[in-house]
Amino acid sequence: MNSIKISDYEVVVGLEVHIQLNTNSKAFARDLNRFGDNPNTNISAITLAHPGTLPKANKAHIEKALLLAIATQSQINPTHQFDRKNYFYPDLPKGYQITQDRYPICEGGHITFESEGRIKKVRLHHIHMEEDAGKSSHDLSDRVSMLDYNRAGTPLVEMVTEPDLRSPQEVHDFMAYMQKLVRYLGISDGNMEEGSMRCDCNVSIRPKGSTIYGERCEIKNVNSKKFAKQAVAYEFKRQYKMVSKGVVFSKQTLNFNPETGVTTPLRSKEDAHDYRYFPDPDLPPILLAPEYIQTLRESMPMLPEQYVEHLTSKYGLNEYNSKELTREKAFADFFLRLAQKEHDYELLAKVIVNKILPEVKDSGKSIEKQVVSDERLLEFIGLIKSKKVAPSVANQILFPAMLDQSNVNLLELAGRLNLLKSEDQGFLGDILDDILKNHPEELEKYRKGNKALIGFFMGQAMKAAKGKADPKLLKTELVKKLND
Ligand code: ADP
Ligand code: MG
Repeated sequence: MNSIKISDYEVVVGLEVHIQLNTNSKAFARDLNRFGDNPNTNISAITLAHPGTLPKANKAHIEKALLLAIATQSQINPTHQFDRKNYFYPDLPKGYQITQDRYPICEGGHITFESEGRIKKVRLHHIHMEEDAGKSSHDLSDRVSMLDYNRAGTPLVEMVTEPDLRSPQEVHDFMAYMQKLVRYLGISDGNMEEGSMRCDCNVSIRPKGSTIYGERCEIKNVNSKKFAKQAVAYEFKRQYKMVSKGVVFSKQTLNFNPETGVTTPLRSKEDAHDYRYFPDPDLPPILLAPEYIQTLRESMPMLPEQYVEHLTSKYGLNEYNSKELTREKAFADFFLRLAQKEHDYELLAKVIVNKILPEVKDSGKSIEKQVVSDERLLEFIGLIKSKKVAPSVANQILFPAMLDQSNVNLLELAGRLNLLKSEDQGFLGDILDDILKNHPEELEKYRKGNKALIGFFMGQAMKAAKGKADPKLLKTELVKKLND
């Protein structure tokens, strides 16, 4: 009897990640590189490959690729070269794609990220530069296919990893980290839904403990982290079913359908030599001066891990808040912008992490389109600092009210809701006396050593004070009276 189980196997994944770079112009022409414009508006004769037109390398393309190379500690090739990859497809006007085959911009390096509480390191095979193809749409008309060449010539880098990923979740977390990295580097918006980042997932399985790789399949053009995770999980099961039945399969190119959650064959994989790669005679090799690379190294933007360090050391934030604020670069930027005006960094961080970020998450809006303006948020923090409103009351009652009633002056709103602390906290004594008188049993127990009951008394007192008590002051008073 066959007694092998899927848990005796592990999945092995290597990724090819395509990243569209946010340069102003295209990779080899001066057309605008911009997503979302009307179809076929950014298409010069070069993009359309009219006879006699010549490509010209784009310095910003090279520079952004180099930032990624430096960030991943990849070895930069002092001389790199563009090659032609020849194939026919209607979205490819030249009949070849300009890419890098023999001498990519850099080789080796690694990506280190966190997955399921562990630090994971994935080696990179290389990163190369290339251009995107146009976009064909087959579902806009039932008679013809539509072609939009705006995307043709968009500068790309392709990052090829070694087969170091070992679970669907790791694939997801790797892509999440890549998204974060390119945003911190400022080289791409990383929006997978808009196609700014896509990946091909190469998937094989093998018995746990084995050191040789199994035959792989390649799932093309996955455009979300979630789909990548689903596709790899599906492929793991599919290959396991075949292997456990003794079915031998050969390398295949697959498509993942998010609606059905299933991978299906695309076409059998072309051999690399079918592309007839050769150096593009229109583009001379690119020589990088060491001083130029050095200048780039010195002007590198901060990476996510460095940002955490920056927030803890320069702003004195705790590690938790620093990590939460660097989850997305936009969060960290938001904090830094407000920190120019509000110097109680800890309080500012607390309000952003505990109040704003959950709101951003729930609403699905970006932090920049947040419902609260900078001014209003600063005013809110000011009210807490001035002790006009108790922090707990501000967080629990005033904050949600402020979101709902964005046109009412904040101080007025706090007054209307009766949240302003009375200047005179003399009424606290009476409240406390009442509570102690009404709960003789609890008082007895407290005095016999059940100190936890302090929470009970605080709760009663806060309720009785209807939010107007300063909790710190209240507690001091309470402890005094309890120990009398
Ligand atoms: P190709 O040029 O055919 O796409 P490469 O050898 O360049 O093939 O590999 C492409 C990707 O496939 C790399 O990310 C690599 O890590 C991955 N890969 C190679 N072998 C395997 C395997 N057996 N299982 C999973 N991934 C693999
Ligand atoms: Mg490939």
